[in-house]
Amino acid sequence: MKLFDTHFHVGGDVDLNEYYDKSREQNVEYFMSVGADYEESIKSKFFANNFENVWYTAGAHPHHAKDCYDSIAMFDEFEGEKLKAVGEIGLDYFYENSDRKVQRKVFEMFLESGLKKNLPVVIHCRDKDNEDGAYSDCFSMVQDFVKDGGRFEVHCYTGEKSWMEKFIDLGGYIGVTGIITFPRAQNVRDLIPHIPNDRLLLETDAPYLAPVPYRGKTNSSAYIIEVARKVASEKVMPIEELVQMTTKNAHTFFNIR
Ligand SMILES: [Zn+2]
Repeated sequence: MKLFDTHFHVGGDVDLNEYYDKSREQNVEYFMSVGADYEESIKSKFFANNFENVWYTAGAHPHHAKDCYDSIAMFDEFEGEKLKAVGEIGLDYFYENSDRKVQRKVFEMFLESGLKKNLPVVIHCRDKDNEDGAYSDCFSMVQDFVKDGGRFEVHCYTGEKSWMEKFIDLGGYIGVTGIITFPRAQNVRDLIPHIPNDRLLLETDAPYLAPVPYRGKTNSSAYIIEVARKVASEKVMPIEELVQMTTKNAHTFFNIR
């Protein structure tokens, strides 16, 4: 089995050698190290440049949008073979750590840079409970982006089925995390059969969202097998087949040969 963790973060004091070795021992063969701000993008670039089968993305999470309101020019330095996407970018109206208008402006700038760099984008989208402002704003922005030739993934999707289907109709990929192992996440498990087999990506979003039975611990790519196991059971598919399929999808989405 060759697992691909398509979304995790190596911020702070993560020891890259240890992280990599422990994950490899658990059959994680491919890694997409995601940058949620400038510093994390730098560390992800270092990880990718120094380890085999590690690639990276660079961007600013909506929480950090306020740090690059005027310009995202500092992200121009990220380029080259190992850079496979722009992200993590998007809208978060739940925590709203940055003003909504600021979030939209910065998201727009990153979508444009995805087009300019000819890279797909990794999107984070979260609404306040019982609202769908983030999804509708995100959808209309992504719609324009797709018209201009853009490709995207909505990572860690936990929203309504109707929005998910709209993103899928636009050509989007859907990322699934360890949330599906959480006892109370039946709504997220119910989405799995509605994700087309060729649009499904597995991710941990480490260090967050450690799957059962590791809840409360620091998450790691090493635990992605738990996500795979649960998705396979929801898809009623042998796990080997599910892993092969999702790993292939990741190569296609990130344009890895
Ligand atoms: Zn993330």
